[in-house]
Formats: sequence, C-alpha cells, structure tokens
Amino acid sequence: VKVVKSVMVEAYTISPETAIEEAARIMMDKGINHIPVVEEGRLVGIITSWDIAKAVARNRKGAVKSIMTRNVIYTHPDEPVEVAARKMEQNNISALPVVDSRKRVLGIVTSEDLSKLIAR
Ligand code: SAM
Repeated sequence: VKVVKSVMVEAYTISPETAIEEAARIMMDKGINHIPVVEEGRLVGIITSWDIAKAVARNRKGAVKSIMTRNVIYTHPDEPVEVAARKMEQNNISALPVVDSRKRVLGIVTSEDLSKLIAR
C-alpha cells in the first residue's frame, strides 16, 4: 500500500502570532493554500486561503490565532493514502498536515498530491 510519506511535501509553517496579512503574503509568494500553525514545535492550528478570504470579507485584522482552525485533522507518515483521502473527503478539506507522535509537523499532503498518484 502507498503511504502518506511517499506523497507528502515540505510544509511551510507559521506561528499563531503571525499577522493575517503576512500569512496571505506567504501563500502568494509560495503558491500555497494551506499553512500549518506551530507553537513550541507542535501543531496548534491550520490556516487556509479560505480563512483569509473570510477574514478579508469580514474586515478582520490581527494575528492568525484569531482566525485559524484549532481542531486540526492530520495524518501520519505511515498512514495509507486511502485513509488520508477519506479524511479529506469526509471533512470537506483539501490538505492534512503530516505529524509525528509528538505532533511535530513533518510535511503536508494535499488533494493535489493525491490526484498526481492517480494521474501517474
Ligand atoms: N473545501 C475547501 C477546502 O478544502 O479548503 C473549503 C472548505 S473547508 C471546510 C474550510 C475550512 O477548513 C477552513 O476554515 C480551514 O481552516 C479548515 N481546514 C482546512 N484543512 C483542515 C484540516 N486539515 N483540519 C481542520 N480544518 C481544516
């Protein structure tokens, strides 16, 4: 079986104190839609371009901690890709941070990375 570590990519991470505007800039510069939020080396949230759009629409400013999703759905390097795909489908999300047993972020897997598997 194919496992997550064979398709995951490097994740750019930010801190909860990062400004929303800075997160938006990072997404533009790196061409990414999802950024795991890390505090003291551990995963504490995730912010997506969707969250940024919502913050702009509501004219909310400040740190990403005020708009990030705290209840993060994540995966592990040795989890089968089918399980990861199901987590995304069932939760209507398109990326999962990949963490170790201590919740340190090792990478990220996105629905784009999974569709490449099928296209190959
Ligand atoms: N389907 C779109 C997508 O894939 O991003 C938008 C809907 S999704 C419900 C949007 C929300 O999901 C955002 O508030 C985002 O923070 C959250 N989200 C994205 N990935 C997540 C994950 N791995 N765990 C928990 N929430 C996540």
